[in-house]
Amino acid sequence: MLPDLLRNVSFFQVLFRIDQDLAETCRQAGCPYCQGPLYYAPYLRKPRGGPKDLPEEYQKRFSLCCGREECRRRVLPPSCLFLGRKVYWQAVILVALTLRQRRTTGVSINRLMRMFSISRATIVRWLQYFRSVFPVSASWQRIRGRVHAAIGDHGLPGLLVDSFLDHSTDSSAGLVACLQFLAAGQAR
Ligand SMILES: [Zn+2]
Repeated sequence: MLPDLLRNVSFFQVLFRIDQDLAETCRQAGCPYCQGPLYYAPYLRKPRGGPKDLPEEYQKRFSLCCGREECRRRVLPPSCLFLGRKVYWQAVILVALTLRQRRTTGVSINRLMRMFSISRATIVRWLQYFRSVFPVSASWQRIRGRVHAAIGDHGLPGLLVDSFLDHSTDSSAGLVACLQFLAAGQAR
């Protein structure tokens, strides 16, 4: 079951390892502004909604900082774990919205609030983000051509998540593949 993944430390470990690779690839590419060397400068975010016993290491957002004195800019590598500055794990947001958006079996907002201990305002904000902000974002524009035409700008992210689940052996593999796909959109 999809929500069970959110209590599974090894699921988050998989995402952490992917983020580690994404960050290292980004670091090796050097500063996009001045080609200077990039250094790790992570910050602790402690997002909500995941397993209680998650190692603190996984709760750090990989971030890079340019080593050139006159630049010093921050570079944020793509991430499967985090969605912008949102206070919940990206996987939690995707799972909750997918359960909500399923055409025939979609669960009510009240039920989601109980399942995830999330406020109505937060769920409504996520839905609004995927309705009006994400579809016009550069991240989505970069990758939308790679998904089936039936997955338009409407019904995100549920339709996208379900299409990955349909093409995977289990829900863990499907959700990981979807998160990796979304991370590919963030890559410059
Ligand atoms: Zn630089």
